[in-house]
Amino acid sequence: MQQAEKPNNLMTILDKAILGRALSCEEIGFLLSLDAEEDLERLFAAAGTVRSRWFGKTVFLYGFLYFNTACSNNCLFCQYRKSNSKATRYSKSTEMIDTIVRKMEASGVHLIDLTMGEFADGTKEAESEYGRLSSFIQKIRKESDIPIMVSPGVVNRSVLADLAEAGADWYACYQETYARPLFAKVRPGQNFDTRYGAKLTAREKGMHLEEGMLIGLGESLEDRANTIIGMRELDADQVRVMSLVAHPDTPMADMAPTPEIEELKVIAVMRLVMPDRLIPASLDVGGLAGLKRRLEAGANVVTSMIIPGMGLSGVANQELDIEDARRTPEAIAPILRECGLTPASADEFRPWLAARNHTRTGGRSGL
Ligand code: SF4
Repeated sequence: MQQAEKPNNLMTILDKAILGRALSCEEIGFLLSLDAEEDLERLFAAAGTVRSRWFGKTVFLYGFLYFNTACSNNCLFCQYRKSNSKATRYSKSTEMIDTIVRKMEASGVHLIDLTMGEFADGTKEAESEYGRLSSFIQKIRKESDIPIMVSPGVVNRSVLADLAEAGADWYACYQETYARPLFAKVRPGQNFDTRYGAKLTAREKGMHLEEGMLIGLGESLEDRANTIIGMRELDADQVRVMSLVAHPDTPMADMAPTPEIEELKVIAVMRLVMPDRLIPASLDVGGLAGLKRRLEAGANVVTSMIIPGMGLSGVANQELDIEDARRTPEAIAPILRECGLTPASADEFRPWLAARNHTRTGGRSGL
């Protein structure tokens, strides 16, 4: 990839993004390569300007419920991979899920993310767990209008239709990288196109899409830039980045930690490239201590908030900030105030979703 010329071009590229013009792969790569403090400040300031334009001072809060930690896949980066016999495995009962969902709603989150590991297509387990997921959604939907995101891994067309029919609003399924050789390495036995295709099917069924990238897998800057371009082409409604947390019981245990600034740069660049999209600041990597920096980089969603005292795990970090109640709307409130941000009111999220649908069919979104 040819780099856009330094020094020059930083303000030109930022101005171009602020004006809403599409950045090229080279320009994205250039922004991702910045390392001088004053350049990074300009990058984050531009991302903040763009976020304010589209979302004002408002952020959305997501509750996270990882209800079944079994998985039939063996992703190299994931502690819940099938081969890890030391992983904490649990499957929450329907009653427990009901209790947690009620607590989450009462806590003031704007969306509930129901996450599970992936089950091999056609197995009895898959039929049972995906059926159970549809039933929870139907139950929640009978009592509440809260938006629901499902993260069940790659599922077939019929399961996606059931989930959408039950009332799921969002399908989250992360490619993690658009570099195909790297995808094949870190997701052994999985198919890039099948995973991508599941997202297209989910959209066809009426669901919004969340796409995600993981950095620190050994990818190049060009890979990161291409992944951001891929997300833009997918036209995902929400795009997230997380840094690899190298878990000791995985084949990636020895990967060098990714400096936090790399994740912050990706957040800022995603904001400039996809200005009107939801971009989460994940509590799963840096916990409450890392939230302010992610918001200052241009994020406008806080995820994943977890109800303490329920024996629940996070994804990248199994325990970080969970049982000491640091992943709750109450705990993050002071950080939001410091950033001059405020949680959206309960009735602001549905209109945003409707506006996004309108955008994809030719209108414009924004609060
Ligand atoms: S990343 Fe998801 S699909 Fe891969 S092993 Fe972990 S839970 Fe399973």
